[in-house]
Amino acid sequence: MAIVGASLAGTRAAETLRREGFDGTITIVGDEPHQPYDRPPLSKQVLAGDWEPDRIELSDEESLGDLNADWRLGRRAVGLDVADRTVTLDDGVTVTADGILIATGARCRELPTGGLEGIHTLRGLDDCLAIRAEFDATPQRVAVVGAGFIGAEVAATARSRGLEVTVIEALPVPLGRILGTEMGTVCAEVHRDHGVDLRLGVGVDGFDGHGRVERVNLSDGTAVDADVVVVGIGVIPNTEWLEGSGLTLDNGVVCDETCLAAPGIAAAGDVARWPNALFGETMRVEHWDNAIAQGHHAVLRLAGAEASADAEPYTPVPWFWSDQYDRKIQLAGRARPDDEVRIITGSTAERRFAALYGRAGRLVGVLGFNRPRHVMKYRNLIEQGTSFDEAIRIAEQE
Ligand code: FAD
Ligand code: NAP
Repeated sequence: MAIVGASLAGTRAAETLRREGFDGTITIVGDEPHQPYDRPPLSKQVLAGDWEPDRIELSDEESLGDLNADWRLGRRAVGLDVADRTVTLDDGVTVTADGILIATGARCRELPTGGLEGIHTLRGLDDCLAIRAEFDATPQRVAVVGAGFIGAEVAATARSRGLEVTVIEALPVPLGRILGTEMGTVCAEVHRDHGVDLRLGVGVDGFDGHGRVERVNLSDGTAVDADVVVVGIGVIPNTEWLEGSGLTLDNGVVCDETCLAAPGIAAAGDVARWPNALFGETMRVEHWDNAIAQGHHAVLRLAGAEASADAEPYTPVPWFWSDQYDRKIQLAGRARPDDEVRIITGSTAERRFAALYGRAGRLVGVLGFNRPRHVMKYRNLIEQGTSFDEAIRIAEQE
């Protein structure tokens, strides 16, 4: 087996293979120089300075050793021959395998910086340490561009460090595309509660400074003074190395419902796009839980009877958490901005509640602010295809 991408989906997939008794060669190619590590703490504990990088390794030395894998770290895959199932690396070496798992994730979308220093994106450990070093210096006014996950979490962490934070977001509310306007508004209130200056419904025209950023210019003609800027405006799936391979690339590697992109080739994690029959939707999920679950599913698909017509489709209920201040925000399912939203316990005023999302008569999502039990319970109901009315009835009986 060859696994391209030595991060969450790739490493956990290799572990699955060994756990399931695969005793062939596993080659793992990753372009980062580091041992595989976990990304969520990069916007939280590591950025806060509470954890050092050694706490975020995905597996300890012994477990990595037990994998008995042929690691090619610091090496980039530059091409794939689908027919021969051969991956070409940036040093010209080729790796041929019976099965190839594509787990190359995604990278940050960027804004033109005009070469100014002090403007960062956050995806990897080195990015995190660079931002942390900036946060350690004084004086510190932080501007965060984008109020998606990165923006919201970096803002929360920066505030926890006592820094002055302005968040600039093109949409009317933070996390609006994920949570919808009503719940995004609650998020906005949580950030305002903690002293964040939110500039919503406004874009960024550019940055000013002398060598180093001093100001962010906004599309409404105003400006935000800043010593350091973190840009979190979404990601681009890492598929360039697959161009010309014959695989279908369309905002990710397009797979069938079992995660297969071609015979003997599967994809998993942030880079994979597949039809999730449970939702009747082709999706690409950019969250931790999916990288693990899909890595597991996809690699077993490769290791199993490839021609089998009854291979299991991959039909998860996507789920994520996001820690912001003392709130654990969790969403299971697929919420859309125009879904019907009903609070079933708690209240937005106390910032502790659970809300259900309904669409076309069906329960499609559950959001919890410090309500993990509710999220897991209704996640199961989403999986069972429960109607929205039935879910509300169940909630009323609690
Ligand atoms: P990635 O983690 O992106 O790994 C892909 C790997 O492949 C990378 O190492 C990349 O460098 C490498 N690669 C790319 N191209 C090539 C190539 N051509 N050759 C070789 N290697 C290549 N999710 C949550 O649910 N909750 C959270 O709280 C949360 N917090 C997060 C915080 C941060 C700061 C970030 C960045 C993400 C967070 N996520 C969170 C999302 C989660 O970490 C991702 O969904 C997950 O990392 C995806 O794993 P992956 O293995 O698919 O891709
Ligand atoms: P994101 O969640 O997609 O959010 C990006 C936000 O930036 C969106 O609200 C987007 O609005 C906005 N935006 C885009 N262009 C902009 C511009 N020019 N000016 C101002 N705002 C702009 O992406 P992210 O926050 O950058 O996160 C990156 C990745 O890390 C994602 O894959 C995310 O899932 C992952 N991550 C996950 C977690 C978690 O699950 N807890 C935590 C951190 C990171 P539009 O939608 O209108 O473009």
